[in-house]
Amino acid sequence: MNILISDKLSPRGVEILERAGFKVTVKTNLSKEELCKEIGQYEGLIVRSGTQVTADVIEAGTRLRIIGRAGTGLDNVDSEAATRRGIVVMNTPGGNTVTTAEHTIAMLVAMSRRIPQATASVKAGKWEKNRFMGTELANKTLGLVGLGQIGSYVAKLAQGLGMNVIGYDPYLDPARAQQRGIEVVTLPELFQRADIISVHTPLTAETRGLINAEAIKQMKPGVMIVNCARGGIVDERDLYEALQSGHVAAAAFDVFETEPVPSDHPLLSLENFIGTPHIGASTEEAQENVAIAIAEQFVDYFKRGIARGAVNMPSVPPDVLPQLQPYLTLAERMGSFQAQLLEGGLRSVTVEYFGDVANMTVAPITVAVLKGLLAPILEDVINYVNAPLVAKERGIEVKEVKSGDAGDYTSLLRIKVEAGSQQHTLGGTLFHRKEPRIIDINEFQVEVVSEGHMLLIYNVDRPGVIGIVGQVLGEHSVNIAQMQCSRAERGGRALLIIGLDEPLPPQVLNRLKQERDILSVRVVDLSKGS
Ligand code: NAD
Repeated sequence: MNILISDKLSPRGVEILERAGFKVTVKTNLSKEELCKEIGQYEGLIVRSGTQVTADVIEAGTRLRIIGRAGTGLDNVDSEAATRRGIVVMNTPGGNTVTTAEHTIAMLVAMSRRIPQATASVKAGKWEKNRFMGTELANKTLGLVGLGQIGSYVAKLAQGLGMNVIGYDPYLDPARAQQRGIEVVTLPELFQRADIISVHTPLTAETRGLINAEAIKQMKPGVMIVNCARGGIVDERDLYEALQSGHVAAAAFDVFETEPVPSDHPLLSLENFIGTPHIGASTEEAQENVAIAIAEQFVDYFKRGIARGAVNMPSVPPDVLPQLQPYLTLAERMGSFQAQLLEGGLRSVTVEYFGDVANMTVAPITVAVLKGLLAPILEDVINYVNAPLVAKERGIEVKEVKSGDAGDYTSLLRIKVEAGSQQHTLGGTLFHRKEPRIIDINEFQVEVVSEGHMLLIYNVDRPGVIGIVGQVLGEHSVNIAQMQCSRAERGGRALLIIGLDEPLPPQVLNRLKQERDILSVRVVDLSKGS
């Protein structure tokens, strides 16, 4: 097997591959044209974040069977193009947790003791003992937004420093956080109580600008803010104002809305702001971890046929996959659809199989449901291998039930989830054996093509509501691609589902929520497909 490594990778990875008998070629900084020319000779490609593995590169890689990303994000790999060609795409989730959590603590300490400013002063030949009065961390309240892998490890380290840790994570069962000694609170309570706030969520439509002027207003004067997650979770303009006014005493960022951060960025001009160039994961250990992990995964795949860390296909025999694939797509879309409607931590998932599908190997389909459910809220790429493990770690109970009759359908899938204090069900099937459709949402019978951008509106079943919705969308030039309504009983609760060509602008969402007869509005994005 010929493996090309096209980004800088720790030599430990190369060693493992060579010891296993692979022929390894390391060629970094190739242009796209050079890579397209080169790639045809290799069965495997290993990249970090530098190489852009576009559809053209994948097309040129006629012998390619596997693409590995040493690290987590897969923004630089066109997984869809790879899936179409039957190429396995894998990554190495989790290798950065300790390193990034330690960096967060380093930022906390550096910020509260003003280490960078004091260092600069000493290096400038000064001895300003009185200028650098700091604050102790012990007995202070640390508010963590996002209690996933990094957030919960930061909690552990901060507890070691004697801090009180409170946290907010609407997608995590509070019992899991409490077991780790984190007091679970609402977001407004976190804003009001924390002395230091650190964010550890992915950047999503919900978390973009989560810490903005309105949030800062609710915080204690003198609060400090850390962002070692993703640029944009803290609104940089609003933070600048608050740092200038002193309402926020200090802030520390490892990540920025635009990277590299422009040298004239206003935050950089402030004495009470410190920043690092996205080095949260940059330690020898983390780099080595991901290199070893990807090399071992390649060896497992080529020698034993086990696709650990694969993001685009489960480990099932190749002859079973074609029959299973449409159900995997349906299951993942249903999971993703359901996830975007949930409020509160997910506690249990039951996947029920009816009709023909109940006679298949359903385990990968259940995993596809989990993959769809977890992916919209988690940072790591959720794959067929880690989805059950991640569910277990988050305390989510998973059940599989096979039932006989699918009623009017050949096959039927139903997902039942418990999240927060609510229960939800979602039914789905395949039309013409391959087209995924959602056919019921809780008590409502529907027929939804599960793709693209959607708007779900629960409303009072009263004349005029559809007209109002149409008018609001029209006023904001939002085009309706498809629309259907369903109700359980006349005059009761009704559901309006609208397919949109484009994502819904946030101001239109807020405007719809103000309508008296509209009970709730949710947006669902299935545009990335599965
Ligand atoms: P994770 O997926 O394990 O955890 C993310 C957590 O955020 C989950 O528990 C999820 O439920 C929660 N969450 C999602 N939406 C939320 C919301 N609206 N409010 C509150 N919580 C919400 O991810 P992780 O590995 O812990 O990574 C956390 C962040 O750190 C990510 O943004 C990741 O990109 C970033 N990161 C940065 C670096 C760096 O170099 N600075 C390195 C690694 C990871």
